[in-house]
Amino acid sequence: MISIAIDGPSGAGKSSLAKRLAAELGYVYVDTGAMYRAIGLYALRAGQNTRDAAAVAALLPAIRLDIRAGQGAQQVLLNGEDVTAAVRQEAVGMAASDVSAHPAVREFLLATQRALAERSNVLMDGRDIGTVVLPNATVKIYLTATPQARAQRRLAELQARGEAADYDTVLADICRRDDQDTHRAVAPLRQAADAIRLDTSDIGLEESYQLLKRTVLAHIA
Ligand code: C5P
Repeated sequence: MISIAIDGPSGAGKSSLAKRLAAELGYVYVDTGAMYRAIGLYALRAGQNTRDAAAVAALLPAIRLDIRAGQGAQQVLLNGEDVTAAVRQEAVGMAASDVSAHPAVREFLLATQRALAERSNVLMDGRDIGTVVLPNATVKIYLTATPQARAQRRLAELQARGEAADYDTVLADICRRDDQDTHRAVAPLRQAADAIRLDTSDIGLEESYQLLKRTVLAHIA
């Protein structure tokens, strides 16, 4: 099986680029962030403090996550409910970042993530795919951009969806998430030694896509 690992900070354009590339290559797209988001959503709904490791760990036995992975798309079912859209909210992203720091949560999702890569050719996107989940991935990409460039893009996205947002709040949110994701004790966000770093700060979406595609194709051909 061929596996493409794409890691990087939030807002670097990973998911839209990865989704498109998976569809073009005919690979299954696995969005691991959505899995952490589903757990974050469950904890929020349960009224738990998402930073409390023991409280979140206690919820896990009641959670059944089904990932319907397809070419270029993924559906997340949380105890049978399709939460694919619900997990995209900003508040859920922050909750996901909180719960993803807990070892029990990472352990809970690891087997599911690895199993998906054993069954099909995958393009898996996350924070620790190249370092922890698929250390033997066929090709590893670390996709990044400056916090300012990522904040601009996220702001445009939110505005396009009609959500109220301002640049300073979005930038602060991105910096806080980066800080949490890179400083946590377990599986922190970092570039794998054998990953190829692509910086999209100064290029648009289309150019980023072509760069990603070229780089991946050069390594799986
Ligand atoms: O990529 P996305 O923004 O959907 O991820 C939500 C959160 O889930 C991230 O901030 C990160 O903390 C966490 N995450 C993770 N490991 C992954 C994917 C996401 O810790 N492989």
